[in-house]
Amino acid sequence: MIKYGELTTKGDNRGTFIKLLAENIKNAMSDYKINITYDFSRMFIESNNIDDNFINKLKKVFGIHSFVICKRINSNDEEEIKKEALALMKEETFKTFKVETKRSNKKFPIESMEFSRIIGGVILKNIDCKVDVHNPDVLLNIEIRNDVTLIYTKEAYGNEGYPVGVQGKGLLMISGGIDSPVAGYLSLKRGIALECLYFEAIPHTSLEAREKVKKLVRTLNEYSGNIKLYIVPFTKLQEEIYKNCDQTYNITILRRMMYRIATRFARKRNCKIIINGENIGQVASQTLSSISVINEVTSLPVIRPVVCFDKLEIIKLAKEINTYETSILPYEDCCTIFVPKHPVINPSHEKCEIEESKFDYEPLVKECVNNIFKVELKDDFNNYL
Ligand code: ATP
Ligand code: MG
Repeated sequence: MIKYGELTTKGDNRGTFIKLLAENIKNAMSDYKINITYDFSRMFIESNNIDDNFINKLKKVFGIHSFVICKRINSNDEEEIKKEALALMKEETFKTFKVETKRSNKKFPIESMEFSRIIGGVILKNIDCKVDVHNPDVLLNIEIRNDVTLIYTKEAYGNEGYPVGVQGKGLLMISGGIDSPVAGYLSLKRGIALECLYFEAIPHTSLEAREKVKKLVRTLNEYSGNIKLYIVPFTKLQEEIYKNCDQTYNITILRRMMYRIATRFARKRNCKIIINGENIGQVASQTLSSISVINEVTSLPVIRPVVCFDKLEIIKLAKEINTYETSILPYEDCCTIFVPKHPVINPSHEKCEIEESKFDYEPLVKECVNNIFKVELKDDFNNYL
């Protein structure tokens, strides 16, 4: 039984939210035979095969506040409930317990408090334990609904957030670094479906670097299920920048080109926003002046989920979501090659325009956008990473 997560988008959206959550769960659980039913307050997944892997997968799906593994009885039969409640409690290790009954079937003839006492009596008679109504080791819940009874003890917490996709799509600029996968994870959590764009400059960057990005997307996919990865062949444009522009402005111009390409591609793919892992002050290209002159080339909103995090906070999250170990593999990114000794930290708009007028970048940008290709996420290196 699933309790929904944050439902601040109210009214009509509630139905969409729940339906999407059901679809996402079905996708995440495709290895299992399950049946999903739901109403506005609860969702039920039926399966005969709920193991640890099942529970771990469910914990990753956004939009779930908490869930419990219930035993379902297809009646409100008192004797049956007693038998199953006792069987469930025999699986637990505890000294003290409490029974809580909820009765949504008001036709059920015994009052909730009284029924809790009856079940409590059965447990006390058969297991060596005590009742503690304030701080029990185990809380035994009994929900008497119309025609079915649910019995459960443990509650597990879900990943909260919104079901992925409820907010439409965003384009994540993903590098092999630590920050952008975390930015992606946080966006997924807000219900944004993702497509990923990776700029690659072969032969200056390697296929191993691409493999690393694929692996990061595969990890993110555990939280969403359907992220696509697109690659921009960026070598020619990058080389032209290094050939023509003032060295100190290389990275600034490079990033403006990335934004231009990402913007056009996002529009093509119906992504409403661009998402990246920029973080104030982290490097020269992420000072406020840099972000400002870089941002001005795009007409789309750019969301930077980790913009104000400390690096250690980002690392902590990266470890939690399992991207960190992949991110710290040493392959170079196109942003880390040819980095000038003294990149400008206070770039100006005027100087950017002067530098960009030194070569005809528009056909190159166009060519990059036209040459973007999708890669399959399977591991081409046979667990090489
Ligand atoms: P990260 O750890 O995510 O790589 P970073 O600290 O390396 O971030 P930068 O290299 O300056 O920072 O990049 C800032 C952001 O720009 C990245 O988080 C990512 O969103 C985007 N970016 C950088 N390089 C690439 C690339 N090769 N392809 C796509 N996006 C990129
Ligand atoms: Mg990087």
